[in-house]
Amino acid sequence: MSFESFFNPQSVAIVGASRQKGKVGYEILINMVQAGYPGKIFPVNRKADEIEGLKCYPDLVSIGEVPDLVILVIPAKIVPAVMEECARIGTKAVVIITAGFKEIGKEGKALEDKIVHIAKEAGIRIIGPNCLGLIVPVNKVNASFGGDLPSPGGIAYLSQSGALLAAILDMANANDIGFSKLVSIGNKADVNELDLIRAVSDDKDTKVIAGYLENIADGDAFVRQAEKISHIKPILLMKSGGTSAGAQAASSHTGSLAGSETAYESAFERAGIIRCGSIKQQFDYAQAFSNQPLPAGPSVVVITNAGGPGIMAADAVERVGLTFAKLDEKTVEKLKSVLPPAANFYNPVDILGDALADRYSSALDIVIDDPNVDSILILLTPQAMTEAAATAEAIVRISRAKPTKPVLACFLGVSKVEEGVKILRKGDIPQYDSPESAVETIKVMSEYVRWRSRPKRVVKLFPVNRRKVEHIIERHQRQGIREVGETESKEILEAYGFVTPKGSIATSAEQAANIASQLGFPVVLKIWSPDILHKSDVGGVRVGLKTEQEVKDAFDLMMYRIPKKQPDAHILGVLVQEMCSSGKEVILGMNRDPHFGPLMMFGMGGVMVEVLKDVSFYLAPLTADEARQMLMDTKTYKILKGVRGQEGVDIDKIAEGLQRLSQLVTEFPQILEMDINPYVVGPIGTTPIAVDARMSLEV
Ligand code: ADP
Ligand code: MG
Repeated sequence: MSFESFFNPQSVAIVGASRQKGKVGYEILINMVQAGYPGKIFPVNRKADEIEGLKCYPDLVSIGEVPDLVILVIPAKIVPAVMEECARIGTKAVVIITAGFKEIGKEGKALEDKIVHIAKEAGIRIIGPNCLGLIVPVNKVNASFGGDLPSPGGIAYLSQSGALLAAILDMANANDIGFSKLVSIGNKADVNELDLIRAVSDDKDTKVIAGYLENIADGDAFVRQAEKISHIKPILLMKSGGTSAGAQAASSHTGSLAGSETAYESAFERAGIIRCGSIKQQFDYAQAFSNQPLPAGPSVVVITNAGGPGIMAADAVERVGLTFAKLDEKTVEKLKSVLPPAANFYNPVDILGDALADRYSSALDIVIDDPNVDSILILLTPQAMTEAAATAEAIVRISRAKPTKPVLACFLGVSKVEEGVKILRKGDIPQYDSPESAVETIKVMSEYVRWRSRPKRVVKLFPVNRRKVEHIIERHQRQGIREVGETESKEILEAYGFVTPKGSIATSAEQAANIASQLGFPVVLKIWSPDILHKSDVGGVRVGLKTEQEVKDAFDLMMYRIPKKQPDAHILGVLVQEMCSSGKEVILGMNRDPHFGPLMMFGMGGVMVEVLKDVSFYLAPLTADEARQMLMDTKTYKILKGVRGQEGVDIDKIAEGLQRLSQLVTEFPQILEMDINPYVVGPIGTTPIAVDARMSLEV
């Protein structure tokens, strides 16, 4: 469906239009009128003949033509009846402002289902209900009660919070920020965030897509499609916490370490979405993305009339990992020929406190041509002679004449720079209130460029024994067993190419000693019970047993002590296992997020994993690069690489383990959570060993 009827309607009916100031039905009507909407407006109100000079109709049918867009501002109870009317006359686009649906509970949900049903049958699309409306500045559509019509611009904004949209509108109008579209998506009964992001992705007026979301309707589809759209236009999202449907009691380490926001973070990263922490940050970024070209690389030049802010900017450049541009010799020569001798001709280019507009103008005109410069930040502090307005005009003029590199400005101060700031904003130069926020914006832009040019994702598929895993999982599910213990989890892992320690089950001390001598000493003893998830917690693991006698004693002790600690545990025996002599312990895990699917985890393993919390997450399926990146995102990585003369471990083997696990959990959606902890890894060339594993199944 095209959103043309929403974004560029030729006629609009407002059902529930009111004559009474302060009523939503009045505010929407007056906003449409005051916006200068050139199409036809049909107020629908049974009790009025005219409102604000517009002829009123008792119902939609009486209009005698089909309005492109219908806005409903009527009590929730009668919305279904009016939706039926929309269906009868053949309107295809409806915005329901009315509240009192899903958000109020069961009754409201039933009402909402009803209107969605009517819409589906009739091929009508709905924005809302429970929303603030819709604004399209270029077409002079202000079908909202959010505020005055903003100026046209390159930002498309969608908000799940109506009130927030009103605040954004107010801020934007005060700062001359323009929009292509503003949509309050309300309860998302029909049109959701993804529909709208798709709708504006090929809209010529939209340069950047921004929004505020509380949840995402279909995580999987969202990630896949947003990833494609991010290649065309940057997507900047604010996401508030909210409650997570995934907050079930976790039984794995991975499950307990994955916070409700972890999956969102991962999903946004995968899709190239730029996550913003505040409205200010979002508009800092949006201004630059919508008005300036993207930087070709990371090097930044700073032009300033004050030393202090210049140093602040330089520090920020270094802190965020951008490069401080080394100016070309020719650039330096040219600067010397126009600037006073006391100026600094290197980066930051300090044109001195008495600089007038002409110095800014010539310095910018010179450095913008330097091949070593990717983006330009201009700082200005208002000293007695400073010409903020004329400087702003010069910046606008030069950046328009040479529109190949992003130019950002930071005019510090308030009243003395006010006029200059206005000129900058009108001239599409993003203005920042601190050097740091400008630098941060350049960083985000260059990260986006890097994300866009990253190689295509290729997920490697390993040859595995799927059938075997299928059998084990089905058997558990048939018996209603949710938790898969160490031995069976390891069988599953072996089918996916993991190596596990050799070992067998013993039910007597004698048998344990026999198995141990066959395996060779030292050995490990572990309690085997479907009711004990974390064996060490109950004294159920003994490592480094060197003789048959030690094994027998350890066996007897476990059998004596554990039933006392956990009387209800059904103990099947003891696992006698070969001991992995050396290596580092890491954890590989997965927790299935209800919205985004399997979320992989890597971290420092062993029994301290929850204490240290040095873990990283990423959505499966993983590519080799993503698996390696997961390792690099932890502090453990440095230890694994080898520190202070200690030999490093085989990093690529760990990354391969993560990829194999990612394949397993992608191919078996029945696995809800799992840990391999510890995964013991040794030096390059050795094979890592899955020493312990457990998983939970859907039953
Ligand atoms: P659980 O996590 O249920 O307490 P594990 O099997 O992970 O039990 O054992 C706990 C710890 O004992 C491991 O983190 C590891 O340090 C050590 N360990 C267990 N099995 C072995 C083994 N086969 N070789 C070497 N160390 C082991
Ligand atoms: Mg363990």
